[in-house]
Amino acid sequence: MAKSPEVKLAVFGRAGVGKSALVVRFLTRRFIWEYDPTLESTYRHQANIDDEVVAMEILDTAGQEDIQQKESHMRWGDGFVIVYDITDRGSFEEVAPLRSLLEEVKRPKNVPLVLVGNKSDLDHARQVGTEEGERLAAEMACAFYECSACANEGGTVAEAFHELCREVRRR
Ligand code: GDP
Ligand code: MG
Repeated sequence: MAKSPEVKLAVFGRAGVGKSALVVRFLTRRFIWEYDPTLESTYRHQANIDDEVVAMEILDTAGQEDIQQKESHMRWGDGFVIVYDITDRGSFEEVAPLRSLLEEVKRPKNVPLVLVGNKSDLDHARQVGTEEGERLAAEMACAFYECSACANEGGTVAEAFHELCREVRRR
């Protein structure tokens, strides 16, 4: 099987949206309820995507970084997951500013990106409609997934990361 260069992925979004839970779910197929919210970690992972072994490095940001730290994470990454929490409208409102900063930092190329609305298991507490997520993703010209790090029906979490890898490698 062909081997390709390592893909650097960074996960952004307000603290508490479930970035760490999503990354851990993707890497271990398990859900960890409590994860140190101030922790920033990088992980190495290999996945078989479309019959190719793709090596990736994943940066799970804390979501409390100042602008300089955000910019430096953005310069580091090749592709980005922006996460919001469907039960937290404020986290959804932070998506567009993050995208703008990305576009500024990575100019002039358009940036490989996926938008993830997490915590879809908490539908009773939903504050952001699925259509709103879809609309925002269409504006940002990126793929959109609603998912749940704890339920992960249909393996949507892995699908989001795999699609991002594909997007990076298409550029
Ligand atoms: P981060 O700050 O973005 O890394 O968020 P964490 O991964 O630390 O998650 C914040 C909180 O949300 C924790 O209490 C998690 O257990 C919870 N959480 C994360 N993902 C989900 C999910 O999909 N569903 C539910 N119900 N809770 C989640
Ligand atoms: Mg975290």
